[in-house]
Amino acid sequence: MQGLMMDVPLLITDLIRFAERNHGDTEIVSKTVEGGLHRYTYREAHARARRLAKVLHALGVKLGDRVGTLAWNGYRHYELYYAISGIGAVINTINPRLFPDQITYISNHAENQVLCFDLSFMPLVEKLAPQLKSVKHYVLLTDRAHMPAQTSIPKLKCYEDLMDQQDDRFEWPSFDERTAAALCYTSGTTGNPKGVLFGHRSTVLHAYGAALPDALNLSALDAVLPVVPMFHANAWSLPYACTMVGAKMVFPGPHLDGKSVYELIEQEKVTLSAGVPTVWLMLLQHLAANKVKFSTLKRTVIGGSACPPAMIRTFQDDYGVTVFHAWGMTEMSPLGTVGSLKTKQAQLPKDQRYAVQAKQGRGIFGVEMKIVDEGGKELPWDGKAFGDLLVKGPWIASGYMKSEGGDPLKDGWFPTGDVATIDAEGYLQITDRSKDVIKSGGEWISSIDLENIAVAHPAIQEAAVIGVKHPKWDERPLVVAVKKAGQEVTRDELLKFYEGKIAKWWMPDDVVFVPELPHTATGKLSKLTLRQQLKDYRLPGA
Ligand code: AMP
Repeated sequence: MQGLMMDVPLLITDLIRFAERNHGDTEIVSKTVEGGLHRYTYREAHARARRLAKVLHALGVKLGDRVGTLAWNGYRHYELYYAISGIGAVINTINPRLFPDQITYISNHAENQVLCFDLSFMPLVEKLAPQLKSVKHYVLLTDRAHMPAQTSIPKLKCYEDLMDQQDDRFEWPSFDERTAAALCYTSGTTGNPKGVLFGHRSTVLHAYGAALPDALNLSALDAVLPVVPMFHANAWSLPYACTMVGAKMVFPGPHLDGKSVYELIEQEKVTLSAGVPTVWLMLLQHLAANKVKFSTLKRTVIGGSACPPAMIRTFQDDYGVTVFHAWGMTEMSPLGTVGSLKTKQAQLPKDQRYAVQAKQGRGIFGVEMKIVDEGGKELPWDGKAFGDLLVKGPWIASGYMKSEGGDPLKDGWFPTGDVATIDAEGYLQITDRSKDVIKSGGEWISSIDLENIAVAHPAIQEAAVIGVKHPKWDERPLVVAVKKAGQEVTRDELLKFYEGKIAKWWMPDDVVFVPELPHTATGKLSKLTLRQQLKDYRLPGA
């Protein structure tokens, strides 16, 4: 119709262009892998992103190509976020904590043309390079002084050298807002990791949603420390949402222990931080042991795993920091719900308020939710009925890269694999998980992979692996196994059998031998019953 609003594409580069114009001297501060503290402004970051765009063109990266990263939270990773997406290519942020075979699988599946990585990952990339079939250029994210004298990585390039060869005279191209911008693999479902593709439009819309007052409430008055990694669900979109509002950003690099995080918060006057419960546990331990308090931190976003109610209480009662418990998933860009209060709840007595905050939060506009029973019938929002949680919206995945795993949608809704209640006020509470995975310290462990290894042992008849509560890691894997008749194997022998077959942090914490495992009527292993049977089990030392 005549006179309708302008049809302007929502592009990621518009965020950084806006930040330069309106918040040009606001700082981005990074602890570096090389051991220093780097600081510059949005103006300089934008200039470097434009320079990097020219570097990428010179390396032959074209529209739609994938560029992989193995990097901590830092300014060079931030520049890569903007430059790669900005030229219409796709940044594939790879989780370096995965087992080397999975990293190889991801890079080959994504067909990364270039791999950019931090110094910490030199030994890893040296080991993997012969198997990374698509990679034409390896770029070490450092300067000349830190380049290794010798390496087996073919034609290893130095990031800062490449940057020095270009200037920053570059105009960002305009293209369809539905172009892919970023790619993050998740092991949150069974089988091989699957790629979630974020678009320009979905990313910008999600940043608007994330910045809302009842979501992360971001503003130009904030200094934000994303502890959540940039390789895990785009650091919950903070590199985009902070840029949108012109908040100061503080990147912790590889230093995530309590002391380092605390010192950085104090030194850079951080007002808001975000990360998984395990990180906050280390921080709270540091505070208690050293009898120190925060001078500027006001809010913290905790998610990725359930935030223990005691953590909410400690942060608020002892340190005056409000906790926002958030729920989401990589497939949701990732924000789904945030636990901010409504007026009537803010007026409740403390204990009741904390009980509301301990839930996973309420929906953000842009995320529709429903819970359904086994037959797909929608359940009421009464805080009691629990069922499979389905979501829908413009920043929620419609499927996976290369249609891996088929079409996941059910009548246009994405099944989260979480089981939940929703109360009359719209607050979500995750009660269980129907997907067969364990989340330890915010990262996934595949129970199926661990079961397959157990049953490969000659003395094991059947095995189930479930997540059991752990005070530090939230969940740890426990093997429940049935021995073959007449065969013997001990707990330690079975655990030894895992060595070399999995990443060290996937190693099950314990083995329980049982005469038989519970099955459903259709003969499937019933993990629900097994979890109930073992509800009083405690891990050794936990
Ligand atoms: P990821 O894609 O790695 O971010 O993992 C998403 C999954 O982590 C969700 O589907 C949940 O199973 C779990 N998760 C995320 N946030 C929370 C939370 N606040 N409480 C409980 N589980 C959570």
